[in-house]
Order: sequence, then C-alpha cells, then structure tokens
Amino acid sequence: MTREEQVRADIVEVGRRLYGRGYVASNDGNISVRLGDGRLMATPKSVSKGFMTPDMMVVTDLSGRKLAGEREASSELLMHLAVYEARPDVGAVVHAHPPLATGFAVAGIPLDRAVLAEVVTTLGSVPIAEYGTPSTAELPAAVRKFIKVHDGLLLANHGALSVGADLFGAYYKMETIEHFARISLVARLLGRERVLSREEVLRLQGLRGTYGIASPAPICIDEGGTAGVSGEATCQVVQAPESMGARLVDFTAAGTPAAGAAPPSTFAPGPRAGAGLGPFPSSPGAAASTPAERGAVLREGGGEGREPEIRLTYRQLAGLIEEALRTVR
Ligand SMILES: [Zn+2]
Repeated sequence: MTREEQVRADIVEVGRRLYGRGYVASNDGNISVRLGDGRLMATPKSVSKGFMTPDMMVVTDLSGRKLAGEREASSELLMHLAVYEARPDVGAVVHAHPPLATGFAVAGIPLDRAVLAEVVTTLGSVPIAEYGTPSTAELPAAVRKFIKVHDGLLLANHGALSVGADLFGAYYKMETIEHFARISLVARLLGRERVLSREEVLRLQGLRGTYGIASPAPICIDEGGTAGVSGEATCQVVQAPESMGARLVDFTAAGTPAAGAAPPSTFAPGPRAGAGLGPFPSSPGAAASTPAERGAVLREGGGEGREPEIRLTYRQLAGLIEEALRTVR
C-alpha cells in the first residue's frame, strides 16, 4: 500500500469513528491530511463521513485548487488551508460538531479551566474562535487568531476543530475535547467544580517535556491580555487559582466569560473550599493580626465595576470568626 492509499484508508476510518460516536450528523464535518509536495488530501462535500470510500477523496494544492478526484472538496477547506499555512508542524486537520463541545461553543463558554491533568498536559485549554459564516473567509480568520498556539478550538455556534502531526493524532484530540466537555458539564450539573491549582498546572506543564508532548505554545495562567499585536493569542490561557498549598481548589466564577474573548481571571474560594482538609483550626493566636498581615492576598478586580478580591485560607477565616466572637462576648 502506498502512503497515499494509506491516507485514503485512514480518512475513511476516522470518518467512520466521527460518525459512529455522533460527532457529526448528516454530511457534517471534514477531514484533511497533508501529503507533502504542497498537496493535501481532503474529504468530499455532500457525503456522510460515516459512509465514505477511499476513492471519494479529493487532492488539492495548498491554495485549495483541485489536482485530482472526481468530487469537490469540502466547502470548509478554506479553514483547513488557514491551519496548514499557520502551522507547518500540522499534518492533519479534523472538523466536527460533537454535541457537548458544540454546546459549550453555543453557550460561549470556553473549555479553559484546569480540570483534568491529561487535558492540561496535552491541549492546555480549548478557547472559542469567534463566529464566522461557514464556507466564507470569516471562519479561517477567526481560527487564525488561536491556531498558532492551540491544537484544539471550539468554533462559536458551530463545532470544534483539532489538529495534529498526523491524522489519528488530530482525531484523538477531537475525542479529548468532547470528553473534556462531557466531564465539565457533569461537574457543573452536580454543582461543584474543583480545579487544579496554579502550582499543579505549572508542574504538569513541566511534564510536557518529560513525556515528549509537543505543544505549540506554553500555558499562561489567569491572564486576560494574551493577544499579541496582531490580535492573535500568544499562549494557552488556563484558569487555575493560586491555592496556598492545596492542589485542588473549588472554582467560583464571578463573571460569565464572553464568546471568543479571554475570560475574566477571577477566582475566589467557593463555599466549600478546603472541604476535606480536616477540622477548623482553633488556634487563639491566629486572630492576633489583620488578615493582610497573616498572609491573606488582596487583589484588585480585573476591570471596571469589578470588586476587589480577597483571598483567605481557612485558618485565616477561622481566626477572623474567633476574633469577631470575642468582640461580641
Ligand atoms: Zn462544520
């Protein structure tokens, strides 16, 4: 089997998996693979990705001009071309509409909280590229803002996009995005979301090198202004709070992240922060100074109309309560 025959067979297989897992409906989604020599192989338009045959594929050049194939390439090929142009390391692109990830894309909620160690290590985060009319130049433009630093994106009110060095690498990232969305949704429905602390996220980032995980950009934590001069993202924004020692921290978002925008960088201990860390400390000495002197962190809000934020450990909070009780007595 030649390399090109293998790529045809692999695209058919990945199409079956996307369809079988419900990541695409009807003729949705598209797949492409870089063949080398300035050529791409892409899925045809108007065909269910679950029922393709190897002969259906279209070969184009890097500007999308058809070189071989009886059918026409997907109308979303422009988005794939933008990726290959921006990322010489990318060998394959997968686009689908997995329902849970797409739900987040519709809600305008990026998958950027440090929830799962594996996701932090591999994808960092999954931001939302702003809405663009499918098949137009708007969508490639929206994707360009993020694709240099991310291997997985949500497309606002549309779906998801993943890239990899090879086709199965790109496909597995699509699985990871949908899995991440499913777990995030369940945690939020259960009413509690604990996230990895900033320190733990930095530790995981260090493991990328150890495990040989190729990542297009470093993680940046809790930063709103990551857009470069050109408006492109410059690092993978992950929301992970400082924890003062704990590795997991309850997440409480004060604001609703806007679609396509960097989310507000607000963390405050939730009502159950520190649960499971043992009984309340009751050291009388803990109340001997102001919260600031005892190491509480006071931060200014991230923008106009935002309340300044104060962070206390449970020990500090217990000290304050004891102090207040003594005053009352
Ligand atoms: Zn689509």
